[in-house]
Amino acid sequence: MTTPDPPWQDAFLAVLGLFLPVACAGCGRADRALCRGCRQTLAAEPGRVRLVAGVRLDAAFEYGGIVRTLLLELKLRGRVDLARPLGTRFGALVRAALAEAPSDAVLLRVPPSRQGARRRGFDPVVLLLARGGVRRPRSLHRARSRSLRRARSPGSGHGQKERSGVERVAATVGTLRAVGVTGRSVVVVDDVVTTGVTMAEAVRAVRAAGGRVVRCVAVASVED
Ligand SMILES: [Zn+2]
Repeated sequence: MTTPDPPWQDAFLAVLGLFLPVACAGCGRADRALCRGCRQTLAAEPGRVRLVAGVRLDAAFEYGGIVRTLLLELKLRGRVDLARPLGTRFGALVRAALAEAPSDAVLLRVPPSRQGARRRGFDPVVLLLARGGVRRPRSLHRARSRSLRRARSPGSGHGQKERSGVERVAATVGTLRAVGVTGRSVVVVDDVVTTGVTMAEAVRAVRAAGGRVVRCVAVASVED
C-alpha cells in the first residue's frame, strides 16, 4: 500500500541516526522509527470489518502482532513518530466514511480515559487522524454521574476481562453523552476496539441525542 522510500531518504536517515539514534519500534533495530522491513510487515497486515450495535465498523488493522506493539509504543511510551504509519490507513477509512455520508456529517471520537489523557499529555486518536490527513474530530463527553455507574455494576472492583459480558454492558451504559448531533449523520472513531462495548455505548449515546451513526472506524479491532 505504501510507496517505497527513495534511496536518498534511507541515506539521509542513516546519517541522521548518527546524531539522533532511534530504534525501530517494531523490531528494536537501531535505525529509525519504523524500519523498512517492519513497514512492509505493517502494510501486509489485514484490516477488519465487523458490526457494532448494528453499525459497520471498519478497522484499519486487526489488533495483534506488530500493530499491537506499535500502538502500545505510541500510547504508553509516547512514540508519536508512529502516528503516521499507523494513521495513514486509518485516515483513509475515515475520509471514505465521510465521503459517503451527507456533507454535514459529524466526526465524533470516543474520549480517552481521564487517567490516560493525564498520563500521556497527548491524544492518540486526534494525532492519528491528523497524520492520516483528517480534520480534528469533535468528542463525545463522559457522563458525570460516576456513583450511579458504580451502583449499577456490582463487579466494578474487577478488571474488565473478569466481568461477564452483561456486567460490562451494564457498567458502560450511560457513561457517554453526545451533544449537537440531532438530525445529523455521525461517523464515530476510536483507536482500538476490543469487546466493542465502548463503541456500542458511543452509538447508543448518539442515537439518544437524535443522531444517526453511519459508520464506526477504528485503527485496530480485536478478532471477535
Ligand atoms: Zn523494524
